Amino acid sequence: MPHFSSRFVDSTPGDPLTDTRSRQVQGALWSRVQPTPVSAPRLVALSPEVARLLGLEEQALRSEAWVRVLAGNAVEPGMAPYAANYGGHQFGQWAGQLGDGRAIGLGEVRAPDGTLYELQLKGAGRTPYSRRGDGRAVLRSSIREFLCSEAMHHLGVPTTRALSLVATGDAVVRDMFYDGHPQEEPGAIVCRVAPSFLRFGNFELCTSRGDVALLKQLADYTLSQFFPELGAPSKDTYAAFFHEVARRTAKLIAQWQTVGFVHGVMNTDNMSILGLTIDYGPYGWVDDFDPDWTPNTTDAEQGRYRFGNQPAIGMWNVERLGVALMPLFEGDEGLVQAGLLEYQRALNAEMLGRYAAKLGLASLEDEADVQRVNACLSWLGAEETDMTLFFRGLSRVVVAPTAPTVFPDVLREAFYRPVSEPHLARGLEWLASWWQRARREGADPVDQARRMDAVNPKYVLRNYLAQEAIDAAHAGDDSKVLELLDVMRRPYDEQPGREAYAARRPEWARSKPGCSALSCSS
Ligand code: AMP
Ligand code: MG
Repeated sequence: MPHFSSRFVDSTPGDPLTDTRSRQVQGALWSRVQPTPVSAPRLVALSPEVARLLGLEEQALRSEAWVRVLAGNAVEPGMAPYAANYGGHQFGQWAGQLGDGRAIGLGEVRAPDGTLYELQLKGAGRTPYSRRGDGRAVLRSSIREFLCSEAMHHLGVPTTRALSLVATGDAVVRDMFYDGHPQEEPGAIVCRVAPSFLRFGNFELCTSRGDVALLKQLADYTLSQFFPELGAPSKDTYAAFFHEVARRTAKLIAQWQTVGFVHGVMNTDNMSILGLTIDYGPYGWVDDFDPDWTPNTTDAEQGRYRFGNQPAIGMWNVERLGVALMPLFEGDEGLVQAGLLEYQRALNAEMLGRYAAKLGLASLEDEADVQRVNACLSWLGAEETDMTLFFRGLSRVVVAPTAPTVFPDVLREAFYRPVSEPHLARGLEWLASWWQRARREGADPVDQARRMDAVNPKYVLRNYLAQEAIDAAHAGDDSKVLELLDVMRRPYDEQPGREAYAARRPEWARSKPGCSALSCSS
């Protein structure tokens, strides 16, 4: 076992009580808790990259001693298990105290690169923040979190990581469709890994209670541990911190937009202070490029967290953080406004830069180039067209010796339904113009295609793929989880023989639960 420590518990105020009765916890950033043991833990999957990141041997992680730890059945010396106290705005409304209702921080290990990483078990049992929940997680949502954390990392998108997926051997009761039909499902625990799991909501809760001293302790802890380059705490440092979080959040969301990831529940308690993707629940991948799509059935009507709205919601959330930090800005509202401008600037720059790269261009040079991107996206949205297949296919078009004169077959693959001739003609016109523009870069087309393939993934964790792995796991076969994990390790590579994982969503998956729509029940 490595050496475990806990900076957060050692250096910030905690809850004096240790019972897991649901309650309001005042004046404390966390509560001590113990994971609740499970009956028959079984290691389903490990991430080899996270093991390596932490300097842990895979063989050791598979040992009984480690599996007990990853299941919450053993607490090692040096660990100080805790649940964090945070609040949040849920679907636009202040929801008060929320906190880690089923996530338990075990402690930190120092990685070979010197970074301290926190290990956190999701689904490890009740805490004072569980409210009416059981503190547990079901296998299906745990598979989704485990796979997507790692898939996102390999795509290059900042994210919390997942070290392990353990089946608990215990049943968990969930009413998956909230229709009065609760059922037993297998339970599971994911061990999440990140430098910190602090959220916007940790800061918001302090301010909502008027506890400025606690807010300052939290901010000073965060600055010293995760933003040391910004300097000693002061009004200016807090402002720089806010601007940095705004920037990171903007960059993160620009990445989501350009790979087609929809988080699904961008409440402020699910927004990482480090700019990581955090809390994989009813997330999804767009398949066909539809800015109005949301995977979250709870949000289907309002569409607050729909694909095309994520950039605006990111800004709304950053504003909530800014408001929470106001006491540290000494009432200077201009600092919040400046942070929001920074968010917009960073989002715009990052989106344009990423779309340029997706189209094989070094940058978008003028208004005509920006129009080119917009025209492409509006054409994509006009008929059901697979976003991933379309962008991946462009590298095959860019290497053609002449501008296309017929609509390329490789891009026809991206259509979900037959499309009209005028639509094809419009697409062809765009492609021909883009091909000319791409040639003006003066690059060797083969190099250009290679660079495009390095930013336009071939493999993303399509919702139906995850659901197939879940269905197999429910039937006792974990091999699809392992196979998917392996495919998603190299999303930009061709991987001959695995083309099926790059195919567009099959028709049967169009409206199957888990493949097109997900409830929050997890
Ligand atoms: P989420 O929508 O997963 O981000 O969760 C929102 C809040 O509900 C957080 O405070 C969670 O800790 C809590 N929560 C979700 N599921 C459970 C559960 N099964 N038991 C206890 N708390 C939960
Ligand atoms: Mg959450």
